[in-house]
Amino acid sequence: MLDEAAPGKTATQIARRIEEEILARGWPVGELLWSEPELRARSGVSRTVLREAVRLVEHHQVARMRRGPQGGLLVTAPDTGPSIWAMAAYLEFTGVRVADILRVRSLLEPMAAALAAERITEDGILALRKAFDRERPGYAGPMPEERLHARLSELSGNPVLELFVDALDSLTRRYVHLAGRTENLEIGRTSREAHLRHGRILDSVIAGRAAEAEIGVRDHLDGITAWLGRRGALGRPALGLSSTAEHLGSASLAVSVAARMYDDITGAGWPVGTSLGSEAELTDRYQVSRAVLRAAVRLLEQHAIASPRRGRIGGLVVTAPSRQASVDSAALYLAYKGMTTEHARVVREALELGAVRDVVAGGDMPGEPFHTGLAEASGNSVLCLFLGIVGDVMGEADPEEHTAAHHEVTEALRANDTGLALHRLRRHLNSAPRCWS
Ligand SMILES: [Zn+2]
Ligand SMILES: [Zn+2]
Repeated sequence: MLDEAAPGKTATQIARRIEEEILARGWPVGELLWSEPELRARSGVSRTVLREAVRLVEHHQVARMRRGPQGGLLVTAPDTGPSIWAMAAYLEFTGVRVADILRVRSLLEPMAAALAAERITEDGILALRKAFDRERPGYAGPMPEERLHARLSELSGNPVLELFVDALDSLTRRYVHLAGRTENLEIGRTSREAHLRHGRILDSVIAGRAAEAEIGVRDHLDGITAWLGRRGALGRPALGLSSTAEHLGSASLAVSVAARMYDDITGAGWPVGTSLGSEAELTDRYQVSRAVLRAAVRLLEQHAIASPRRGRIGGLVVTAPSRQASVDSAALYLAYKGMTTEHARVVREALELGAVRDVVAGGDMPGEPFHTGLAEASGNSVLCLFLGIVGDVMGEADPEEHTAAHHEVTEALRANDTGLALHRLRRHLNSAPRCWS
């Protein structure tokens, strides 16, 4: 893994160009686009750089290289895996708290349940019932081993909600595994309670009772928050937990080795700049071949979690994951899913209105520029990241003409008039859904 100077920058640019072109062609899943020689001729780069670019495209699940005489770049359908890993890495690196995760869940999931109730179909009912029947109460924590929350967000028909709820669900379950190591009796009880609650939510959604579904999910999440609060888990940063592997990415050996290495890094408090060991030490520690280790290292490198280095601090060195990687990865997935302005608007409205309430409760006035200032003043790193993603994929460069609207919201906040601030912000977001600053 240390045998090659990083061809990083050029490869990233080539990868982006390939992805943009696939997007411009309407993301034709299953189509074979260009052979390797064709791609080399078009991009004018060396075989090494091109292969690195293709690996990035493969990592984003946009396309994969099919080898052989009939080979070429085959367009693929992405899932939420790469985005979720990118977001989780960034959030855990920045020290996200359990309370922040649950707060954002309570802003988004009740809305997802209401939307699901409004548009549920026979197929949706089948999928929900199947997910519910597969739950095993008493498995490992206050929530049964289930995907019901993710199913509900899928049925909302809003890809932004789906992606965010999926990410929050993965992050929460990392905690639940930790909190769940105690008192089996209580775990069994709370888990059965959660299963019962799921049943009632399911009934509301299937019957199309949107308001009831919304309240049901809100109460259920309040219950989870209270449970974790009693265990003192809410203020804890999300570090040192295991079990990333089953939630993130596909199930290849390289992915599971990467996930174990990732857990070791978070477990050590994310020591940026320190070496995890040489290639020989790592193949030994993780009991894998050099090829598998290299594939795992590439994954960590693509998420800016660790990077192979030469020199004085050699070996695999821990790096700081970037916010931009999360934004880029999410933007690609949302483009694939056909996100509309309205999808982004409703999610953004829920998050920003939530931020206003948190700002009023916390007492810190937001700084400039307005929208990012509001997100930051909420003090919630999940809310900041999600709003950053929505703003980035939707936003206009120049919010100048909206200064007056921003000022009005700030005035209401200064006067401690929450209701008026919420009204003004909602009005602004409705009339200028793309305003972002
Ligand atoms: Zn639940
Ligand atoms: Zn604005």
